[in-house]
Amino acid sequence: MAHSSFHASVLEVSLGPKDKIHGDGISAPRWIQTQPDPPASAPARPPHPLRPTAPHSTPPQANAAYAAGFGVKGSLALPPAKKAAFLVCMDARINPAAAFGLAEGDVHVIRKAGGGASDDAIRSLVISHKLLGTNEFFLVHHTDCGMEYFTDGVIGELLATSVASANIVVKDGVVGFENASNDGGAPDGRFINWLTIKNQAASIKDDAERIRGSPLVNKTIPIHGYVYDVKTGVLNHVLSI
Ligand SMILES: [Zn+2]
Repeated sequence: MAHSSFHASVLEVSLGPKDKIHGDGISAPRWIQTQPDPPASAPARPPHPLRPTAPHSTPPQANAAYAAGFGVKGSLALPPAKKAAFLVCMDARINPAAAFGLAEGDVHVIRKAGGGASDDAIRSLVISHKLLGTNEFFLVHHTDCGMEYFTDGVIGELLATSVASANIVVKDGVVGFENASNDGGAPDGRFINWLTIKNQAASIKDDAERIRGSPLVNKTIPIHGYVYDVKTGVLNHVLSI
């Protein structure tokens, strides 16, 4: 990474979502439901090119394999060894561990929709430095971010009529969202600042400057802003302050 004293080693680690193990009588979350096997006559489904575990592996199954090889990682210290904190969009296409050369124990990774410098993001960054010794911050936005495709007004109106998942629609080349149903919503979404994004480079600059300007953030901490390209995997440096 340019303009940084941070040196990452290459490690193959997945930062998958932490799963809550479900016991008898408790339904598993929908996102870990396995798909039924195709009929014997149907052609076999090709393996997902990016999925590191077997196509039908649930998070608990994957975790069992991971824990079996946990080894010395149980002795890692609480403070991040590389003394850095990352603030990254939650986009599913970004795997910070693989993309930025990180392993367990190396850094803090704070993830949010858009990766913006919200009050809660700053809360985590302050804890990261003040109590756990990190001394360098990396802000990572990315191309094709979902936060570019709606405004506060759009999501406020969508939620006002339905809280169910909306459909992604493309009209005249413009990506947008449409409610799939109008089964009742709530006006509360109109009162939230959703931190949507119009321009990634401008947004990363705003975020860096907001963090820099916080009276709770040590002025000695370098703050680096990047835009990650989801088409190429390349991390492009925008600024360091
Ligand atoms: Zn995003």
